[in-house]
Amino acid sequence: MPDCIFCAIAQGEISARIVYEDDQVIAFEDANPQMPVHVLIIPKHHYSHIGDEVPEPLLGHLFATVATVARLKGVDEKGYRIIVNTGDDGRQTVHHLHVHVLGGALMPIRMGPAD
Ligand code: 5GP
Ligand code: ZN
Repeated sequence: MPDCIFCAIAQGEISARIVYEDDQVIAFEDANPQMPVHVLIIPKHHYSHIGDEVPEPLLGHLFATVATVARLKGVDEKGYRIIVNTGDDGRQTVHHLHVHVLGGALMPIRMGPAD
């Protein structure tokens, strides 16, 4: 997808600190980490969001990679949070499907009642 920053990362056109990569997915450090561990996992192929007709085996592999990344980053025992921001209300800013893996400390509680 032209002008997609995560496609550019997947194709090696923009550098990123790669945590894990295979033929279908790539995981890299978030440029603006919100926690001591903050990794993004993306499919190499462009899908805008989780509802963008993503093949189920790929979705399965994407989420299986969460556990791989958690092990590689050393947060598998203490735990972590995964987030998939979707669309405008979900505050998705990069419109290439991605899973945030956040951990390395106790997550702050930020969510309150909807207004
Ligand atoms: P979203 O709000 O769309 O769920 O999250 C997008 C994430 O991508 C943000 O956490 C942001 O810091 C990260 N990000 C945006 N541009 C880049 C980039 O060029 N490189 C890396 N490594 N992360 C990026
Ligand atoms: Zn893309």
